[in-house]
Amino acid sequence: MKIKPKKSLGQNFLIDRNILKIISDNGNIKSNNTIVEIGPGSGNLTRFLIDENPKKIITIEKDKNLVKELKIKFHDKINLINDDFLKVDLNFLRNENIIFFGNLPFNISSQILIKLIKLKIEGFKIDKLILMFQKEVAERIIANHDTNQYGRLSIISQWCMNIVKIKDIKPSSFYPTPKVDSTLLSFVPKQNYLKLEKIKTLEHVTNVFFNLRRKMVRKPMNILFEDANKISEKLQINLNSRPQNISCINYYKICEEYEKLLY
Ligand code: SAH
Repeated sequence: MKIKPKKSLGQNFLIDRNILKIISDNGNIKSNNTIVEIGPGSGNLTRFLIDENPKKIITIEKDKNLVKELKIKFHDKINLINDDFLKVDLNFLRNENIIFFGNLPFNISSQILIKLIKLKIEGFKIDKLILMFQKEVAERIIANHDTNQYGRLSIISQWCMNIVKIKDIKPSSFYPTPKVDSTLLSFVPKQNYLKLEKIKTLEHVTNVFFNLRRKMVRKPMNILFEDANKISEKLQINLNSRPQNISCINYYKICEEYEKLLY
């Protein structure tokens, strides 16, 4: 059967064997690892992952035609789940030492990343994530404060993950050729990070700040706190700066103060 790629599902299959090898090598896969591949597509990366002999490989693919092909190609070498990754209940993975891989469908890549961060917060044992993003999204994920790319996605992603850029990848490494450049990122969960009661706090606080991206932070601070002056003095935040000038760690501390009001 010939595979006709579906644009609506973000199907750009990786065809460059050098890149596939780089992705698989960066996982540093051990024999006790359970591999979860998000959107295996035609199985180009899957083949490299099988060669690393992990404990098991679970693939989650939305397109049922591709799942049929994968079954023919790999038989019982992999476990196939035909579902939307954003909807699938992953609790059966609670006791596994997981490495997630994915050349992600770009239209939902941020949502997928947020779901993975939530798993880490809920105590899943995640060794690593090796994920491909559209280059602009990757730049937002790894951005530092005082840059234009810095925003909610940077702050939420960097909260509990150390993130390293592995490589920019050219459109010619994919079929069909996408219109955008891609970037491969590696995420390793942090042992120590500022614990919060709920990731929702971080989502809410960054939302309040970045909805007012061009305004001075005096405004969002006043929305969140009755005594914004006292809190900003304590955290040494200049109320005349803009949301993109506040460092990640200060956002986490703002969340900590905000949770003191709630719980
Ligand atoms: N990993 C493959 C394919 C990448 S393209 C390769 O590198 O060659 C993205 C893949 O994600 C496609 O196979 C697409 O069908 C799948 N996909 C898209 N939306 C999905 C979703 N919500 N859940 C799971 N898979 C999805």
